[in-house]
Amino acid sequence: SDAQTSDSIKAIDRASVHRITSGQVVIDLQTAVKELVENSLDAGATNIEVRFKDHGVKSIEVIDNGSGISKENYEGLALKHHTSKLSNFEDLTIVRSFGFRGEALSSLCALSESVVFTTATASEAPMGTVLELERSGKLKSSDAKVARQRGTTVTVTGLFAPLPVRRKEFERNAKREFLKALNLLQAYALVPCVQENQGVRLTVFNQVSGWKTSALQTDGSRSLKSSVSSLWGPKQVENLVPLDLRCIVRTDKASLKRQGILEEQTTEVRVTGLISKFSPGNGRASADRQFFYVNGRPCSLTKIQKAFNEVYRSFNTNQSPFVIADFQLPTASCDINVSPDKRTIFIHSEGNLILALKVIHLLIVRRVSDSRAHNSI
Ligand code: ADP
Ligand code: MG
Repeated sequence: SDAQTSDSIKAIDRASVHRITSGQVVIDLQTAVKELVENSLDAGATNIEVRFKDHGVKSIEVIDNGSGISKENYEGLALKHHTSKLSNFEDLTIVRSFGFRGEALSSLCALSESVVFTTATASEAPMGTVLELERSGKLKSSDAKVARQRGTTVTVTGLFAPLPVRRKEFERNAKREFLKALNLLQAYALVPCVQENQGVRLTVFNQVSGWKTSALQTDGSRSLKSSVSSLWGPKQVENLVPLDLRCIVRTDKASLKRQGILEEQTTEVRVTGLISKFSPGNGRASADRQFFYVNGRPCSLTKIQKAFNEVYRSFNTNQSPFVIADFQLPTASCDINVSPDKRTIFIHSEGNLILALKVIHLLIVRRVSDSRAHNSI
């Protein structure tokens, strides 16, 4: 065969490249669902329903009442690097939408048995169009019509079928994967409150052998506390205090040097959200109720998360706070294009930010009986 007779460098065929890179964008069930919900939010939806069948193993469906997709966008919809949100590299420093690379749908097509859309714009409703996509992302057909109000429904069937090893893993760990997806959906359910945007009603169902159960529901309120209450119950709210911190963060010397800047620079970072009061008996040593955002974008900030936990644990060895924290900083001081799943964000001078936070946070935790966590340094 070829592999034995030659060791010359050749280009991998396009379909294989597509499958390889797609596997990095859509890593698991939670990133698949995340991409779909991000698209609904980007389309301005105020009502989003997510339906899992067999914990997502059979299918995932996301139904929204957003803008819908207009006819001229059908062909490019799931083609790689086709997006309606970004057209050049400079836009990346100011982009506010969740999507910006035009990779998600193309990747989902490459990694699933089938991806089908039904969509209607305001002028087309109550008549919608069914869009069938090929694995390559090309539009297969857009002939069928169905009744549909304004918005878009995406149905992804047989996620990871083209990657047999990952598919097996997914089937074996379906319940755990589903819980991870739910946790990320909780983070997204809070996005409209964190961003102080219009409220979004998010409903999640899981259907197993014909039985549909509700897995998550928010009431579309714009209040963070009210959303926390609908996600985890009113008892969880009692224990929370608002977080509103401002810190002036000095830019790391090393990064200034790299940029050839001599004088000292600072960035103002505002941190808003909710945090649980420190009090004996409130122990909860788990990371599934800690949500971090940068400019309203859910992300994992592992070092910052660690800092929050360390402060709490310095008072009580087994306590982790419930925390929702949005870091508002100039878009130019963070890089959102670090990892294919966009969960990692680089923040300039993160080390100094963490130091500032620890000091402030220590002050807050000390004043345990305080009802408000206002502070600034
Ligand atoms: P990106 O979000 O980075 O643009 P995607 O592959 O996720 O890339 O989506 C490609 C394009 O498809 C989007 O730019 C958007 O125009 C359109 N689209 C996807 N999902 C929806 C939706 N639910 N409602 C309206 N338009 C959508
Ligand atoms: Mg997207």
